Amino acid sequence: ILVGAGPGDPELLTLKAVRALQSADVVLYDDLVSPGVLDFARREAEKVDVGKRGYRASPGQPTITAKLVELARAGKTVVRLKGGDPSIFGRATEEIEALQAAGLEVDVIPGVTAASGAAASLRASLPERDLARRVQFVTAHGRDGALPEDMDWSALADPGATTVVYMGVRTMRELTRKLARAGLDPATPAILVDRATWPDERRISATLETIADATEQSRPVGPCLLILGATLSGPAGRIRA
Ligand code: SAH
Repeated sequence: ILVGAGPGDPELLTLKAVRALQSADVVLYDDLVSPGVLDFARREAEKVDVGKRGYRASPGQPTITAKLVELARAGKTVVRLKGGDPSIFGRATEEIEALQAAGLEVDVIPGVTAASGAAASLRASLPERDLARRVQFVTAHGRDGALPEDMDWSALADPGATTVVYMGVRTMRELTRKLARAGLDPATPAILVDRATWPDERRISATLETIADATEQSRPVGPCLLILGATLSGPAGRIRA
């Protein structure tokens, strides 16, 4: 069972997620998953950290996938706990395909994605009448950790969109420079939400032009989400960073 653990606060787990955790013999979790979420698993359940955040040594996706198949084949009820929602930058497809190819049954339980957690903290609506008619979720982290080459710059520079950037800290300076070059107003509100919904959440409020410097100065802990767009000039603009 692929389970969305939400962005941090354990109270953002769904009832289905809690039920799955209580049924699990084994829980494989990422290191974006907060300890309070793991407390919902049975004490006897085996809990395996397969964290692969950032650039530290980690088991790697093929190893995790193989482990999932092996455990499920042995007849165990396996929960694969992923930060946020498994369907948003969660590499769920690789795991689902491997399990299905092995003839195993897979369920997916959605979770609250980081963008929703951050929007709630900011009291912001991501689309907002008259300000943003669409929302785009993008990653600024390609296979090799660099800014992906094939980004759609005209879509990203659309002043009528709210852009939520996952995994965007390392490449932020390059991303924001290229967005300005593509025509996005440098004064566009930009907020970095560090550890959205965790007790130590921080928000760094700036503009497209200043967010990279502001982020560098405030040394965020991560995980961080970068949100850009005019909608942030609403209630979010009055939230103290
Ligand atoms: N499936 C997850 C995203 C996984 S990609 C989801 O739906 O949220 C990992 C990236 O998600 C991080 O680099 C960061 O950009 C973002 N992220 C995850 N949890 C976060 C949090 N609590 N606060 C801010 N960003 C978060």
